[in-house]
Amino acid sequence: MRSCASGPELDAAGHLSCARFTELVGEHVEGALSVEMRSAMGAHLGGCSRCRALLDEYARVGEVVRRATDVRMPLGARARLSRALARLWHHR
Ligand SMILES: [Zn+2]
Repeated sequence: MRSCASGPELDAAGHLSCARFTELVGEHVEGALSVEMRSAMGAHLGGCSRCRALLDEYARVGEVVRRATDVRMPLGARARLSRALARLWHHR
């Protein structure tokens, strides 16, 4: 087994394999790849509908996560809320 930790690489023809694409798709969505790798992935997408679908899925999930983490309760709001609920509870 070969370690892939050293970074992205292309085959002799400068093409990306589907396996490599799958490994890199997360970094691609985050914009963490070099221009060279992005264009290699773009070229791969042009001829591979399977990886296009994978990228779509990844982008969609990333968007959902971003939206979910945007909704943060402000500091102190949670404490105020529980105090208000406690008051409500004791006044019954
Ligand atoms: Zn592919």
